[in-house]
Amino acid sequence: MICNKCQNQAVYSRKYSGENLCSECFSDSILRKAARTISKYKMIKNNDLVCVCVSGGKDSLVLLDILNKMSKTHNFKIFAVSIDEGIPGYRDEALKIVENFCAELKIKYKIFSYKKLFDLTLEESLDLRKDNNSSCSICGIFRRRAFDHAAKTINADVIATGHNLDDVLQTFLINTTSGDTSKIGWMHPDASSNKLRKIKPLSEIYESEIVFYAFTNDLPFQTEPCPHMDEGIRTEIREFLNSLESNHSGIKNNMYNTILKLSQFTNQSIQKEKRTCLICGNECTGKICSVCNMITDLKGK
Ligand code: SF4
Ligand code: ZN
Repeated sequence: MICNKCQNQAVYSRKYSGENLCSECFSDSILRKAARTISKYKMIKNNDLVCVCVSGGKDSLVLLDILNKMSKTHNFKIFAVSIDEGIPGYRDEALKIVENFCAELKIKYKIFSYKKLFDLTLEESLDLRKDNNSSCSICGIFRRRAFDHAAKTINADVIATGHNLDDVLQTFLINTTSGDTSKIGWMHPDASSNKLRKIKPLSEIYESEIVFYAFTNDLPFQTEPCPHMDEGIRTEIREFLNSLESNHSGIKNNMYNTILKLSQFTNQSIQKEKRTCLICGNECTGKICSVCNMITDLKGK
């Protein structure tokens, strides 16, 4: 099998496009794809400081690697941050991987913890919960606030996360099956008008290609999944989408394009009323933000 770009030995067959690529041309194609997404949605501007959220999994380390390479030839800087949720026996290994990677590449790095920010680790929160909120829904509310806090602390203009195309499709189906149409409007990748931009530079790249990029570029990453990962519906949706893709190459790309159109349409119809939380002063849509609501619920038990 010969690479379609340079005639070297190909190591990757891109089924949805019919291309065969050697490892160098494959990596190059991923860098170009991410760069195209960034420029199409004006994700990063001149002189920006980009807060790169790194969990230690494959997606976030690929994102860090790609943005680090781009920052050498473009006019922006990066700062890596991790969130320690307080998940015993899981998060520590990931944090060590990120710390070593950042030290090796001389990337600035800082860890923020749920315990310090909310006076609760994730495990403590799960022990206190009284309804059947999934671990990931509690964790997600804390995580968004923790990243906002991290970005403000380091004075960043942009928050970049490693969500890939599969993550976007899964989130869309989760929102669709729960009847939450407002969240579909928030999925549009153009955040250029927001003060603190939240960007997903890998959102047009298949998860399987992120994994291949991590392996061909010898990137370290944690392979063990979070112990709470299988509690929600996400894993079932991931398997469903993968089985569709294996029988119908390119179906994920088609679905992504549909989401782009739908989210653009829904986004325009959402009236964004901005208020501030009466307890913590953060921006929210009601009187009390979701984080304060949850902490009151948990601690009020
Ligand atoms: Fe948090 Fe769920 Fe991710 Fe685990 S899988 S880190 S609980 S969001
Ligand atoms: Zn609040």
